[in-house]
Amino acid sequence: MHREGLTKRFGMEPPRLARLLRALEAGYSPSNPYHNSAHAADVLRNLHVLLHGARLTEHYLDPLGLLAAYFAAIVHDYGHHGLTNDFLVATSHPLALRYNDRCPLESHHCAAAFSLIAERPDLDALAGLSRAQRAAFRKQVGCCGAPDVEAPAAPEAPVPRDDAERLLSLQVALKVADLGHLGAELEAHKRWLRCLEEEFFGQGDRERQLGLPISPLFDRSKQGVSKSQARLGLG
Ligand SMILES: [Zn+2]
Repeated sequence: MHREGLTKRFGMEPPRLARLLRALEAGYSPSNPYHNSAHAADVLRNLHVLLHGARLTEHYLDPLGLLAAYFAAIVHDYGHHGLTNDFLVATSHPLALRYNDRCPLESHHCAAAFSLIAERPDLDALAGLSRAQRAAFRKQVGCCGAPDVEAPAAPEAPVPRDDAERLLSLQVALKVADLGHLGAELEAHKRWLRCLEEEFFGQGDRERQLGLPISPLFDRSKQGVSKSQARLGLG
């Protein structure tokens, strides 16, 4: 953010930004084998490479959009419980009840991060943004993290036709960054996969304890995701 000139442009105080980032990092449980702060950092790095490598910053992102994209990656799994939406819904988890069973995780990550900033003014690194900038920032972060990617952006269109297409392209970029381990070197990919598999097995253990059907690939006595190509993309 500093190197891109964003901290200076938007008047973000480095100490306050550092406090915010530390607080957000603390919202990633280290007990999650996969959905922890290392995953968030990896996705942020992937998104940075994608945005610049594909030169999306030229037509798709103004500086505020770039800030929103980075922030969306940072918070995209904030407060993750190491459990899937299906499990949260099946067990009537408070998050499933709060969001009426509609993508409770994705709804929670963004809402919880903005709630943190609202409750802790000492963390509000965005205080220098105007009201209009804040509204645009919030909309873009919310849309980046939204689960309802409906259609791919037209690959032949070098310039977005409207804001909807611009936001859709950013959603796709963040999703690709989220699955970045699939494109990593084989050993790195295997390490991420083992972490994901262990998290899935942990949920499978809970499903067994609760007498619920064990989700496919979540049963540690059977084949997991590291032996299957069927659900590698989850995460
Ligand atoms: Zn993720």
